[in-house]
Amino acid sequence: MQQYSYYVGGEFRDSKDKIDVIDPFTQEKFARISQTPPEELNFAVDRAKAAQKKWQDTEFKERAHLLREVAESIFDSLRTLAELETREIGKTLKESLFVDIPLGADCFNYYAAFLQSLEEESLQSELGIDLVKYDPFGVAGVYLPYNVPVMIFGFSCAAALAAGNALVIKPSEYGSLSILEMVKAIDKLDIPKGLINVVTGQGSDVGRHLAEADIDIISFTGSMKTLKKVALASAQTPKKMICELGGVNAAVVFSDADREAAIQNVLASSFMKQGQMCIGSSLVLIEEGIYEEFVKDLVERTKKIKIGNPFSPETGIGPLPTKKHLEEVHAKVNQMRKSGSKVLCGADPKGYFYPPTILESKEIICEEFFAPVVVVKEFKTSQEVERVVESGISGLVLQIWTSDMGVANSLAKKARSGTVWINTFTQMNSQTPFGGAGRSGWGRSLGRFGFFEYVQPKHIGIGFKPSPVWGWFGV
Ligand code: NAD
Repeated sequence: MQQYSYYVGGEFRDSKDKIDVIDPFTQEKFARISQTPPEELNFAVDRAKAAQKKWQDTEFKERAHLLREVAESIFDSLRTLAELETREIGKTLKESLFVDIPLGADCFNYYAAFLQSLEEESLQSELGIDLVKYDPFGVAGVYLPYNVPVMIFGFSCAAALAAGNALVIKPSEYGSLSILEMVKAIDKLDIPKGLINVVTGQGSDVGRHLAEADIDIISFTGSMKTLKKVALASAQTPKKMICELGGVNAAVVFSDADREAAIQNVLASSFMKQGQMCIGSSLVLIEEGIYEEFVKDLVERTKKIKIGNPFSPETGIGPLPTKKHLEEVHAKVNQMRKSGSKVLCGADPKGYFYPPTILESKEIICEEFFAPVVVVKEFKTSQEVERVVESGISGLVLQIWTSDMGVANSLAKKARSGTVWINTFTQMNSQTPFGGAGRSGWGRSLGRFGFFEYVQPKHIGIGFKPSPVWGWFGV
């Protein structure tokens, strides 16, 4: 069985306390990770502080060079990393290989180019010259979710490193292997020892210690439930927090929409990665008039999605990562059934597989499933839809499907969402800002906004003339 060490101060180390990693498809134990002890985590923070001092003095050009090398090392081990993510998490290989890992790697190339075009500001006034420098915060504690570890490593760490910070990364206990494999390649680069650290183990233990540690900024991607614990644990040592959370992510389908485009994208946003996508939809609002026909078509196609081995190219849905994840989803679905929702398909789990499930509800749901479960609901008036988009439950992304751009634009303006997609889905790249509104998060990843989350602008004023308060007291 493969043993994976945590990575602190440029060294791979192990502890006696191990966590077994189980392949959710075969249900075999195939690897083990170590639980990082608190003193080792503190060692990582100390080493990160020392490395950060050197790194912040490194010129933008050199930082950019290292970022490009990180991108290259991820692309070089693309297949291995993709296979590990699929084996550990259960999502299909085509998603790991063609979407998730490349998107994460691309962020490093993007911020390399960004750094090389970045100019610190200087202004001249009658009094003198004002310089605006981009100072890093220091050591960033980065929490990664289980579903897309390398992708979120890219979304958060590329900007944090570009800005001159050091990293102590806490991957999920359900998705650590690709990150641990990736740092083996990064370790071979000419990189200050301790600039990048990875501490593995249970969130309730290692994650809590990281929040309590003497770090300067937290970048958290995960659930609201965990964020509350992280915020509490960091209360004695408050620090800036960038939070990327989830949301219900409604899709609204008007009767004049291109039906085929809407249905294809609703299928993708509900069921890709077994619905474990932060941008995935948990609620589809469909206008009366097309509701019956649309839902019938959606259900028929959903029943045809192939469930099985995530390594097979034909598979659409793989297993959920653990029995615990499956049981939590099933409990939520059963609760909705009890409260009057109707199961249109799915909801009969087998092993670690949760089949794609469609529920019909009279109520607006307010919580994401983060599973292959979606609620469909009919709407009659645009006011009903406005109430939903203004409420912020669709805080991360909102999809609007209509041929009336006037209607789409008006809804997009009203939406309390970080991203609004009109007649499209997943139209994003390393340049477009990404993050939640309302309770889906605070802060932005990607693009120039992503970079500025990780710097503290410093003003240096150089006076050429007496200051504005010279002689104030006349003494
Ligand atoms: P999670 O909240 O369970 O875990 C996130 C991280 O926190 C993990 O590293 C985990 O080990 C750690 N953690 C867990 N318990 C902790 C504790 N008590 N103290 C400190 N740290 C702890 O999230 P998850 O299940 O891994 O991921 C799913 C969630 O992430 C969903 O809500 C999804 O919407 C969200 N997500 C958001 C984005 C985004 O970019 N907005 C991307 C991916 C996932």
